[in-house]
Amino acid sequence: MSYKIFKPILTNGWKHNLIQLWGKTRRAYLVYYHPAYVKKNLRHRVGECQRCGTCCKLMFDCWWLNNHCQTTGCRHYSLRSRVCHIFPIDERDLKDRDLLNPTKKCGYSFNGTKTAKD
Ligand code: SF4
Repeated sequence: MSYKIFKPILTNGWKHNLIQLWGKTRRAYLVYYHPAYVKKNLRHRVGECQRCGTCCKLMFDCWWLNNHCQTTGCRHYSLRSRVCHIFPIDERDLKDRDLLNPTKKCGYSFNGTKTAKD
């Protein structure tokens, strides 16, 4: 593993890293222990992935991330975790993601959901 993968952790600052770490933990918890909440939220999710790759760089750059010219891809797309597969679960995930890339928005948004786990 190269230093490059962990560069965001070393350069983003502790507050940013704590937010990203909490977001990652929260998503994993919801995906594996609250599938009903995830399912409910996904019903209100609209749009589609623009392959910007920002969610693959939360806290650290995923080592499976493959950068193309304008878009990104996963080197092991069919093997990616359920947490990656389902991102974003709710508005809070988008907020975490926007900390990293505020200029280019995620292709997904939520259709007026009130999220209980905020
Ligand atoms: S941040 Fe959104 S648009 Fe970008 S790769 Fe992730 S899901 Fe797709």
